[in-house]
Amino acid sequence: MCGVLGIYGHKYVAQDIYDGLITLQHRGQDATGMVTYDGDVFHMKKGLGLVKDVFRTKNMLRLQGNVGIGHTRYSTIGDGGAADAQPFLSQAFYGVAMAHNGNLFNSHELKKELFEKDRRLVNSSCDVEVILNVFTKALTQQKLNGNVNFDHICNAASSCFKRSKGAYSVVSYISKQGMVAFRDPHGIRPLIMGKRKVGMYEDYIFASEKIALDILGFETVRDVKAGEVIWIDQKRKVHSKVLTNKKHIPCIFEYIYFARPDSMIDNVSVYKARIRMGEKLADQIKKSKIDIDVIMPVPDSSRTSAMALAQKLDLPYREGLIKNRYIGRTFIMPGQAVRKKSIKYKLNAMPLEFKRKKVLLVDDSIVRGNTSKEIVRMCKEAGAKKLYFASYSPPVKFPCVYGIDIPTSEELIGSDNSIEDIRKYIDADKLFYGTLKNVFDSCIVKKSDINDLCMACFDGKYKTGDVDKKVLQDVSESRLSEKACGSVEDSFDSEEPGDEQLTII
Ligand code: SF4
Repeated sequence: MCGVLGIYGHKYVAQDIYDGLITLQHRGQDATGMVTYDGDVFHMKKGLGLVKDVFRTKNMLRLQGNVGIGHTRYSTIGDGGAADAQPFLSQAFYGVAMAHNGNLFNSHELKKELFEKDRRLVNSSCDVEVILNVFTKALTQQKLNGNVNFDHICNAASSCFKRSKGAYSVVSYISKQGMVAFRDPHGIRPLIMGKRKVGMYEDYIFASEKIALDILGFETVRDVKAGEVIWIDQKRKVHSKVLTNKKHIPCIFEYIYFARPDSMIDNVSVYKARIRMGEKLADQIKKSKIDIDVIMPVPDSSRTSAMALAQKLDLPYREGLIKNRYIGRTFIMPGQAVRKKSIKYKLNAMPLEFKRKKVLLVDDSIVRGNTSKEIVRMCKEAGAKKLYFASYSPPVKFPCVYGIDIPTSEELIGSDNSIEDIRKYIDADKLFYGTLKNVFDSCIVKKSDINDLCMACFDGKYKTGDVDKKVLQDVSESRLSEKACGSVEDSFDSEEPGDEQLTII
């Protein structure tokens, strides 16, 4: 999962990109980067770590221009080093900058093809460099006569759709020509477009989440459609076309966990979806007739659902687990060793709230089970008389090949264990899971732009139709080899402010 942002503004844009990246920080904390274009040259700054630590005043002064692209990275591929930080820049056609959110599961084949057939070297492990090469190759193969038009853009995006397998939302800028954005043929990863009027100018933005538009004062134009390419030319004329006719299946996990609750994705409020998930779970729990004194969330993402659940059950809602906000989220920190260590630093159970109480703890999901086990242990140590655990999403059983770090089946506790086995493992007195139907129904509402969702990590149905056993095996092997390469340490280091920075001028 990553955050991507592109602004076609009319004056110095780096501050807006910076502020936008801060709002998208929850989508990735391994690395960040920004490229701006001043009409003549690109300026770039990339580094490992958080937005606030990577960009310094001297960088911001250098990042001149009215156009910019920014990125927050969580590594799902590669070793998470600075060389994989986005955006990327190609020298083709006077310069093309690009960043994306997503994952290609055929990137190794494409890399090989680009090298052997096209004599193009993809120098990083980052998928966007592959997409950038496919895009620029298709672009420059056409008769451009010094200028790019919308047909050229459609042909180049079409080539990406045909050759790149996986899920990706892309924002790109072609020097002296315009800004391009496209969303993969199934629209799995989110991307939204906005605009704002400043005097006589119209500024445009593309971002992973609507919250970036709200914070920066842009009004929503709409979500980019599945398989759609949008081109804003030099005269700021907007062109758009849907190039494929595949089913739109956005990721259900955006609503469960990834996105900020104050975002809208494909016209569905993440906050309201989580409320509905909590209410539906309350109906399930009510049937079990267990005696509960208090409902508590595992902060932060489960707070909305836990509150709705408590209200529906007419039970008190309390915050018994206190989070240290200055430590990264466990789920998005790769590697088991880091994960174990970080739980202790991250959450503290207040005996004041737990002592002699029958507590129902609500979380968004259970992935490996180790975090839940540790949390249950802490709550019991804090004095809970009974500790019930509820995940408002169903058991996560299958890996994600579309850009989310949901590990191999072997690592997923839900893949081949019964609910009773999981309950015993995490040592809860009762364990509840939301049903997939309830979670699905919570996300699909009348006013939404969607009628289906990707739920492959729950039901194993990879609806893009191109994921077979070999793809799953390759994804599993590449994850395991990355672990063996020591990506854990790299990522942990990346939490150190300003630790390692790569600057490209
Ligand atoms: S497999 Fe799961 S996490 Fe991955 S895109 Fe589909 S729903 Fe989202």
